[in-house]
Amino acid sequence: MSVALSRKLAASICVALMLGAAIHASPVAADSFDYQLVPRKIADDTWLLVGKTEDFSRSNGGNIVNTAFVVTDDGVVVIDSGPSKRYAEQMRRAIARITPKPVIRVFNTHHHPDHFLGNQVFADVPTLALAETIAGQRSEGGAFADNVYRLSGDWIKGTEAVAAREAVAPGAIVIGGHPFELIALAGHTQGDLVILDRRTGVLFAGDLVFHNRAPTTPHASIVQWLAALHRLDAIPFKIMVPGHGEPVGDGRAVEQTRRYLRWVESTLALGAARGDEMTEILGKALPAEFATLPLGAEEFARSVAHLYRRYEAGTLTRQR
Ligand SMILES: [Zn+2]
Repeated sequence: MSVALSRKLAASICVALMLGAAIHASPVAADSFDYQLVPRKIADDTWLLVGKTEDFSRSNGGNIVNTAFVVTDDGVVVIDSGPSKRYAEQMRRAIARITPKPVIRVFNTHHHPDHFLGNQVFADVPTLALAETIAGQRSEGGAFADNVYRLSGDWIKGTEAVAAREAVAPGAIVIGGHPFELIALAGHTQGDLVILDRRTGVLFAGDLVFHNRAPTTPHASIVQWLAALHRLDAIPFKIMVPGHGEPVGDGRAVEQTRRYLRWVESTLALGAARGDEMTEILGKALPAEFATLPLGAEEFARSVAHLYRRYEAGTLTRQR
């Protein structure tokens, strides 16, 4: 074979490979990685994107979180930007299908990855969170993004953890005719922002409230969290939006979260007082109420792993 012919052959093989790759890649891109975000109107001007009550996976791409937006007179206020760049891009397109108004503000309720890894798509918009949240996003964001990529694969491609750029103080703020109340709490993490829209009565509770999905506790202080739920009890609302699970018009999601946390708290405290090994706690059967809760067994096991040493250490300190 002449050099020219072999070059020609090599080039055509190359083209064939590239075409093959393109043909192979396009249906994947077209059929997959679509979060199918369909905003649900839950009150005047107020739309919700309800995530699945699942853990991060390669089938859900991290669409396991509730995000929301409020269409005010001046523009759109977004509450949580979702688990990935791709999610937030699709969220912005979903918003654009509802209103031509621009997004003017993005709030992050706390620093967990499913609630803020879409921030990079809002580089043109002020992004706001509590100072504690911003600190957590900065220190842990990169590790979160890596972990989410490990769990959900290419859904997360191109996602970079971008912390909110402005710290918010708690208090009243009127945006486009909506009088919002920003309430700074803690317990699920060290900074949990709750947002009440006094015009509609919608209370965005972030991950202080889970509904029909076991709470996650990697950064939790259960004592603080229970105190935060007590604060929530005193806030009048028409619709409560939990961080995960369906919205509700009454206190049942708060109650469910409280019962679960109290049970975890007492199980760990009693175990530590008895001197149980971690494996003994893990080996116990869950009460039916929590065994049937989506991710009940998984989250309890994680909570024991996160929290039990602290309870053991506390018991030892008290005995001294
Ligand atoms: Zn969270």
